Amino acid sequence: MGLSVLSVLLCVATVIVWARSYWCVTFAARYARWFGGDVLRTEMIELREGRVLFIHSVWSRGGDAKCEYAFHDEHTWGWNDGQDVEHTCFGFGWLSVKTPPDMVDSSLKVASLPCWLVFGCTLGTATYVARRALSGARTAGRCRRCGYDLRATPDRCPECGTVPRRVAGGLVGRHVQTDPPPPLKGS
Ligand SMILES: [Zn+2]
Repeated sequence: MGLSVLSVLLCVATVIVWARSYWCVTFAARYARWFGGDVLRTEMIELREGRVLFIHSVWSRGGDAKCEYAFHDEHTWGWNDGQDVEHTCFGFGWLSVKTPPDMVDSSLKVASLPCWLVFGCTLGTATYVARRALSGARTAGRCRRCGYDLRATPDRCPECGTVPRRVAGGLVGRHVQTDPPPPLKGS
């Protein structure tokens, strides 16, 4: 049950973040310069206008070695840092730009994925988990072949003779722990 709640929460969180991305830009970034004088490598995950952007850029040679993380979240109308794809198709897009080798070495790669895709995945997961939990609750303690209530006879179905697979430690076994054991034949 905990898993169903978690997957539903994840689904709801996706919708909130998705809706919010239309008036806020949120990103998490890592700025790394591995040694003094090296280029600055930036990795970013950014949420904007119903899309998730994965950004990798290399620029600004020089400066001291560092590795910093940043988180940014603010209301922005039409704000654009120039690190976006030029065209999208249903939210999908790809951009790769590289400056000529005689200039300061810099490049920009951007991949764009639509939020609806992420939402579809979380919704699919939540539906799958909920359906499994429901069917598990319905069939617990019942014969898997004919549906007969097996709480009194957990070892074998008196209706059709099917032997339950999960008697030891399974759902059926747990159900009968509180019930008295079945009467022995001939006693
Ligand atoms: Zn049966």
